[in-house]
Amino acid sequence: MPPLEIAGRCERVRQRFEQSQALLVSDLNNIRWLTGFTGSNGWLLVFPDDVVLVTDGRYGDQATAQLAKAGVDGRVLVGRSSAAIFDTLAAEVAPLPSLGFEAAHLTYEQFQRFDGLFETTLVPVGGLVETERRRKDAGEIARIAEACRIADAALSEVQLLGRTEARVRDELEIRMRELGADGPSYETIVATGPINAARPHHRPTGTMIEAGHTVIIDVGALYDGYHSDMTRTFFALDATPQQLELYDVVLAAQCAGVAAVEAGISTAELDAVCRDVITEAGYGEWFSHGTGHGVGLLIHEDPFINRTGDLKLQVGDVVTVEPGVYREGFGGIRVEDLVVVTENGCRVLTASPKDSPCLPSPPMT
Ligand code: ZN
Ligand code: ZN
Repeated sequence: MPPLEIAGRCERVRQRFEQSQALLVSDLNNIRWLTGFTGSNGWLLVFPDDVVLVTDGRYGDQATAQLAKAGVDGRVLVGRSSAAIFDTLAAEVAPLPSLGFEAAHLTYEQFQRFDGLFETTLVPVGGLVETERRRKDAGEIARIAEACRIADAALSEVQLLGRTEARVRDELEIRMRELGADGPSYETIVATGPINAARPHHRPTGTMIEAGHTVIIDVGALYDGYHSDMTRTFFALDATPQQLELYDVVLAAQCAGVAAVEAGISTAELDAVCRDVITEAGYGEWFSHGTGHGVGLLIHEDPFINRTGDLKLQVGDVVTVEPGVYREGFGGIRVEDLVVVTENGCRVLTASPKDSPCLPSPPMT
């Protein structure tokens, strides 16, 4: 497994500094991405020529070790109380005229506290680290690919018929851990039949998977901090002509979407590629969500692929392509793959079969 290239990331963020001379990073995923630190409490100051991580007494040694392992040249300061941590941050930023903070992550209460403590002007900054996080390095892509491999393997082994949604979820999640995952990437979705499968983010229940159902399984693994995300829709034994027709429409839309993924396409254009196939087949109203999203340290992160998206895909983006159709009384169908944008299109990281009709493997008895 290639190593994560953490050491150069603070510099990538510095290149984006505009009006503020330094950035206070409060989002723990962003702190992890910048430094390798995985504790549950920390504040990171990225100065033009220095990096300071302030944490509490539980994490001092861990932070020092993780920054050293990542090759991050920075200082770790420990505050033994919340007040001490805030005082430490105030002392560090005191010489600065202005300090950027993450507008999407700092709470109003925290902002007020800093505003009272700091002489420095606080400047809201939007999505700066998140924008850099989009470009996955080889180590990140390898971890996401491993998470995909684990989910593929677990899905290929699970039995469906005569089991409840919750049991299938449990078996998938246990199997993913056995195969090397730290856990599921999110609560696995198993949605069966005309009511539950009509809800894109249904939570598994005691509902039994029965002949005639479409069964949506949305499953991902977590591997060394990185997520995977995949959906397959299976037919429980016999499929109706309408189920088969709709499966082929969704599969055609999804394959068109994957084929269209390349650096430079806008997220709205990619959404339209999938949506147009479904709309032309007469089911546009049934496609009730966006086409996809980025995946990395978070299961849902930039770039979001939907009708109003104005970002352009770039090399290193890892995104889902997941059109679906849903209607209560019919059920639902979604097909989702995870892909990485490359110099010449994209590479698909998920490998579970999706050919029509999509039948579970091992076969149902
Ligand atoms: Zn999913
Ligand atoms: Zn997804």
